[in-house]
Amino acid sequence: MKGINTISGWLKIDKPIIISGPCSAETEEQTIATAKQIAATGKVHALRAGIWKPRTRPGQYEGAGDIGLQWLAAAKKETGLPITTEVANAAHVEASLKAGVDILWVGARTTVNPFSVQEVADSLKGVDIPVMVKNPVNPDLELWIGALERLHKAGIKTMAAIHRGFSSFEKGPFRNLPMWDLAIELKTRFPELEIICDPSHISGNRDLIAFVSQKALDLDMAGLMIESHINPDAAWSDAKQQVTPAVLGKILSDLVVRQASTDNKTFKDTLSILREQIDTLDDEIMQKMSARMKISEKIGQYKKDNNVTILQVNRWEEIVKTRVALCKAMGMDEGFTRDLLRLIHHESIQVQTKVMNQVEERV
Ligand code: PEP
Ligand code: MN
Repeated sequence: MKGINTISGWLKIDKPIIISGPCSAETEEQTIATAKQIAATGKVHALRAGIWKPRTRPGQYEGAGDIGLQWLAAAKKETGLPITTEVANAAHVEASLKAGVDILWVGARTTVNPFSVQEVADSLKGVDIPVMVKNPVNPDLELWIGALERLHKAGIKTMAAIHRGFSSFEKGPFRNLPMWDLAIELKTRFPELEIICDPSHISGNRDLIAFVSQKALDLDMAGLMIESHINPDAAWSDAKQQVTPAVLGKILSDLVVRQASTDNKTFKDTLSILREQIDTLDDEIMQKMSARMKISEKIGQYKKDNNVTILQVNRWEEIVKTRVALCKAMGMDEGFTRDLLRLIHHESIQVQTKVMNQVEERV
């Protein structure tokens, strides 16, 4: 994907891009009142609202349909905020373009389906409109990239990705697991592509939104999409995760916006000294790791010669116990130590398995 234009550039604003509004447009009054109050914070750049709601289970509010677009258009007229909504098929695209929607987004349940994404992309051929693509519900980076590529191939130049977390069977503090690594990998592969975080759908609970928003900005994400509602508890969808415009204003003003880099010379010099120290330590770690694996290889050979199994549970338990205690004493996180040991042990077993299964050359 070459030549991606940014949404912040298109909106002519400095990052972070802030998009807010209700999960769903419910009534004309609710849409316009929410829009007016979030516009009054002076911190929001675009108004969001779902018109067609893809619900996981039937019987939930499925959106206002086409009439809702008129409410969004009226809210835009009142506040001057550009408007954005979710589209899942060609009919949604056609109705949205007709109503003057400024930015479209593809939802998580649509991104998983290449047929639907292709239908949306085909209906956008020759149309110059920014499109944002939410990550698929499952943690599949290729599917996310595939959807962006389909739109880009159809001629969409102004694009962003929206990180809204990933579904999981296990229930933790988040509605959707953030799995930040996937978003970081996307950013590494496409540095020009802006990623907007959706802390509302990650959190599923309004109390976590400030924390997730700050984390997203600290990971250099380009903006936030936060659901807001004049009366969140009475919302027809996603009630628990929506915030009032007043709370939204507070979350936004409490955010610490750090810059991705600075021209300050002292900062640059100090950083490069620290980075040199990291480089030296990384070299040492890698050399030690290589030496450790060579010993594993020898152990593998020795076990093979003596017909002994690779896995020695007692030894492994002893390693974990002693290393965890040592690292704890040195102020390191226990979870990190365990993850690291697991990785090293896994590789060590691989190395020994290779030795074990090598066919001896017969002379
Ligand atoms: C939404 O933005 O309201 C929505 C349905 O989100 P997602 O596609 O992330 O589930
Ligand atoms: Mn929602």
